[in-house]
Amino acid sequence: MRITDSRYDRDRQRLNVAYRLIGHEARTQTIRQATGLSGDRIRKLYRDYFKGQPARPVRRRRGKSPRQMSFFWRSPVHEVQAAALAAMLQHCRFIGRPRALYRPNLDEVNRFCDLYETFRALCPATVISFEHAWHLLHVLARLDEFVLARCPDCHGTWIRDTLDLLPDNCAACRTDPPD
Ligand SMILES: [Zn+2]
Repeated sequence: MRITDSRYDRDRQRLNVAYRLIGHEARTQTIRQATGLSGDRIRKLYRDYFKGQPARPVRRRRGKSPRQMSFFWRSPVHEVQAAALAAMLQHCRFIGRPRALYRPNLDEVNRFCDLYETFRALCPATVISFEHAWHLLHVLARLDEFVLARCPDCHGTWIRDTLDLLPDNCAACRTDPPD
């Protein structure tokens, strides 16, 4: 009976996390990676979600999840917002833990949702979608090609491409150099 109860609780927790991810317009493959639910089950959850909340402006995004870090260098705004999000990831100890993130547990996914929701509250018009934030999380978890660094000019946090020599300072300093 106890085992059944705990399985039921786990399944319920998994569904709650999946609904939370649907609310963030996460793609099926992201939800599958984050919850371990099957693609069929997730598609059914999507249907139930939209049936239950027809007025909510949630879009179902199709196709592949973002895989390009170049997104975060599209403009100084992208760069600064990515650095702010990365600083939050570091503060909440998400960075430098690659193994845990390929098979995250539900608590970690919930903590990441908390973090992203906090970021959205601080930066409501952000250009960084949940899927982009999820991608950034996985790239920075590895800490190989991209690392968090201190800007040599303003000492602010920025994301440095370790394979690229330029630029060598943060977006804020490039657009508005300190006196
Ligand atoms: Zn700087």
